Amino acid sequence: MSDQVKYVLPESELPTHWVNLLPELPGDSHPPLHPATGQPIGPEDLSALFPMELIMQEVSGEPEIEIPEQVREVYRLWRPSPLYRARRLERALDTPAHIYYKYEGVSPAGSHKPNSAVAQAYYNRRAGVRRLVTETGAGQWGSALSLACQLFGLQCEVFMVGVSFDQKPYRRAMIEAWGGSVHRSPTGLTAAGRAHAAHADGSLGIAISEAVEIAAGAEDTNYALGSVLNHVCLHQTVIGQEAIKQLEMAGEMPDVVVGCVGGGSNFAGLAYPFIRRDMRAGSSTRYIAAEPSACPTLTRGEYRYDFGDSAGMTPLMPMYTLGHDFIPPPLHAGGLRYHGDAPSLCQLVHEGIVEASAIRQSDAFAAAIAFARAEGIIPAPEAAHALRAAFDLAEAAKEAGEAPVILIGLSGHGHFDMSAYQAYRAGELADLELSESQLREALSHLPEAPAIAG
Ligand SMILES: *Cc1c(COP(=O)(O)O)cnc(C)c1O
Repeated sequence: MSDQVKYVLPESELPTHWVNLLPELPGDSHPPLHPATGQPIGPEDLSALFPMELIMQEVSGEPEIEIPEQVREVYRLWRPSPLYRARRLERALDTPAHIYYKYEGVSPAGSHKPNSAVAQAYYNRRAGVRRLVTETGAGQWGSALSLACQLFGLQCEVFMVGVSFDQKPYRRAMIEAWGGSVHRSPTGLTAAGRAHAAHADGSLGIAISEAVEIAAGAEDTNYALGSVLNHVCLHQTVIGQEAIKQLEMAGEMPDVVVGCVGGGSNFAGLAYPFIRRDMRAGSSTRYIAAEPSACPTLTRGEYRYDFGDSAGMTPLMPMYTLGHDFIPPPLHAGGLRYHGDAPSLCQLVHEGIVEASAIRQSDAFAAAIAFARAEGIIPAPEAAHALRAAFDLAEAAKEAGEAPVILIGLSGHGHFDMSAYQAYRAGELADLELSESQLREALSHLPEAPAIAG
């Protein structure tokens, strides 16, 4: 028996296409709706913010979309990313399960986010855009986009949530090292920022509104979003395609695929190529989407149309939601604090193909520490939620005397989140549960929109 640990693909095995699951999604499709008219939006409604090639990807019915050679050239800086067999962890957990993890922390920004940032910068550059603006919470998306803009000769401007700006100076420094500029949101630069001047801490919702306002008002400037949208999930599917080949090298196929969900893009990127494979081969794998119990969109949200941002400026999207003006408690997994999720993922949950699981923050950190001590890598707090869910599967396998193959999406490293690890070690990490009354209050402001049938 081989005791191989790392499954590494040569650069020649880098995927040539992204996998588009949209045409194969089961159930009825529900188009995004215009926020003012309630009618389905068309490509031209988005053209002030996004280049046409990305808009066409957003609505594409093609099962595969070719990855441009210039994007593949940048991907080659860190892709294909490694797949690991977690042999030391299996021993530490004393489980018969075979545990694999696909590690996206090898990218320059330390997470999966550059997979889409690079593609978005490329298409914007091709469309003649000179500047991209975006928002960032903890700073992962802002740093990924700053890197991508630098590589394609675009300016990058990031509106960073005020409290993160103060607490995450190193993410800020990364954005600047790659040539981007950072504003502490709310700013005095936009009407949305000035209107929220009293909210000095800022919020993702306010930062989105600021970035969208700048992009909509300047001819040479577009907006970029780091998760949720179809084209972002699409770009991430290099992850799952590589993982299929790497598991083939190991002579295995997963019984369960586990990932964490903030807006859904890294989960989609890992799972969608496997789901397509299942649909075509008639096989059945379990898929588990792990979300924080303090921001339980898939497990406790309502499935209906809602805005993507707090201010209600974006199109209405069909998704599980906690309400667009829901402000999640200050979780340390900053990348998982979003009130909704990618519509495609929500549909898969609704159709019963993907299961959702809510994970407590302290349980996630306990798993992260155990993982770091066995495998070495210190995981991002977001990815720790997927680890917790996988640990529970490994424990159940031991009790049942079974040896399932578990594939985990390890979306990034936690090197810039060490203050969260310190808080956990000091016993200062609260488990913030959302009460029924908080949930009802958050859901009471949902916009008027047609119900989603089924
Ligand atoms: C942003 C982020 C997430 C959550 O975003 P998704 O779009 O749901 O993938 C998860 N892990 C890491 C490391 C992140 O940076």
